[in-house]
Amino acid sequence: MHYTGTIWRPPYEAKSLLIEVTAGCTHHKCKFCTLYDDLPFKFRMTSLEDIEADLLESQQQIRTWPGTQVKRIYLVGANPFVLNYEHLKNIAERIHHYYPECDSIGCFSRITDISLKSDKELKELSNLGYDGITIGVETGDDNALAFMDKGYTANDIVEQTHRLDLANMSYNFFYLTGISGAGNGVNGAIESAKIFNQTNPKIIGSSMLTIYPESKLFNEIKNGNWAEESELEKLEEIKTLISLLNIPVYFATLGASNAVWIEGNLPTDKKKMMSHLEKVCLPDNESKLRSYRKNLKHL
Ligand code: SF4
Repeated sequence: MHYTGTIWRPPYEAKSLLIEVTAGCTHHKCKFCTLYDDLPFKFRMTSLEDIEADLLESQQQIRTWPGTQVKRIYLVGANPFVLNYEHLKNIAERIHHYYPECDSIGCFSRITDISLKSDKELKELSNLGYDGITIGVETGDDNALAFMDKGYTANDIVEQTHRLDLANMSYNFFYLTGISGAGNGVNGAIESAKIFNQTNPKIIGSSMLTIYPESKLFNEIKNGNWAEESELEKLEEIKTLISLLNIPVYFATLGASNAVWIEGNLPTDKKKMMSHLEKVCLPDNESKLRSYRKNLKHL
């Protein structure tokens, strides 16, 4: 299989067959991000020949496990949805050739990748099986988006996800707790709730900012341009976000960056989730939570 570097996928894609179609990220600018730093290049497309070879190799292996069906394929790379319509169509057609039972195809997407496609193309990609794409929107706080160099605004999140709604393509968000910086966490959550409440994600997964020395953000901190939220401020931020979300959505802290695990369906489980967070938001817990983060060698 043509896997390059560390392969990242959302935890809820654990049962999906992973096929590499890109490696690295076209943007590669977000100040906090070190996810694809192990690659010797910024971004690379996988050739259709290599994709087809992986579909065939995986098919030959999987067909030796009686009764196994591949219902979902997750295309890996930081933002495969940046690929143009024709290329995504070719990939989907090959997937359906090798796995006729496959119901849906997911991948990571940037907000800006959606804007590169026409409404007609989005609709056709949806008809080809693209669904449940994961977007690391991070926040609805425009100041944080601009400072971190995310390359889009909060309003772009609303505008582009409405286009996915129109195309009948579902999507999930990743929120990055802590992205607004010290003293701004609660406000970042308020701004994010305002934006998210205008959208229809199925899942909001929340990861927590963990700063590594290789990141541009580390230098910003060293130069006195930015300060990290305390661990308790980060938890207050999640609590605020959950309290203000009024859309039906599954919300969960996902991945190793979270020392506190919380999950539930909103709005049904809101009270339970808030009360759990209140129990851990105690001043005594700051040092324990801090030590967890300091010892997190890898996300
Ligand atoms: S956070 Fe996502 S979009 Fe930003 S540089 Fe990292 S992989 Fe690329």
